[in-house]
Amino acid sequence: MAGVAESLAAVRARLAAALAEAGRPPGSAVLVAVGKEKPAALLREAYAAGQRDFGESYAQELRDKARELADLRDVRWHFIGRLQENKAKYVAPVAALVHAVGDADLARELARRGGGRTVRCLVQVNVGREPQKAGVAPETTLGLCRELAALEGIDLAGLMCIPPDGPSARPFFRALRELRDEVGKRLGRALPELSMGMSHDFEDAVREGATLVRVGTLIFGERS
Ligand SMILES: *Cc1c(COP(=O)(O)O)cnc(C)c1O
Repeated sequence: MAGVAESLAAVRARLAAALAEAGRPPGSAVLVAVGKEKPAALLREAYAAGQRDFGESYAQELRDKARELADLRDVRWHFIGRLQENKAKYVAPVAALVHAVGDADLARELARRGGGRTVRCLVQVNVGREPQKAGVAPETTLGLCRELAALEGIDLAGLMCIPPDGPSARPFFRALRELRDEVGKRLGRALPELSMGMSHDFEDAVREGATLVRVGTLIFGERS
């Protein structure tokens, strides 16, 4: 199997090509390297190869890795998983961005646990209306965004989705972008971020305007 540096270079090349093809500026989508269930040593390899944005899905794992890699000062941690309120305390102090906020109570808890820092958040939208998936329904998104935008200690930055499995997620990515534009207009405030796209579909997400793609398997290998 290819090493982390090599895999990372391949993903970066594909990301750059997708941006160019879409007529978007280089660097206008950030690659978040998802290291969940992978040892910190592998993240260190990615860091050595220039990676700075890392995604984790489990609260304690994020806390532990942030400690283990505390010497890497300029790492930006992204929390991308489902978060229970009682675990907000592990995430709020370290996360540069919390991708998957689905209710205002969680946001309030994040703000309370941020230790005085503003916590940057995205609202997760259940674009495929799948019962097993987290996130708010598209028609509920504006209401939740309104609530979060009014919260002290929270910086609402945009939307995130995990589309249904299927041959093409592109219509769902497009729908999320349109929803983001609409909500931004209604709130009278820019929502710059769109977190969408994973190993199997990040190029389609970039074509539809993703500003953050969350890629694990292609960089660190299959999870067991
Ligand atoms: C695990 C995970 C990813 C990365 O998935 P890969 O298919 O390994 O790229 C992206 N987003 C979320 C929310 C995840 O939980």
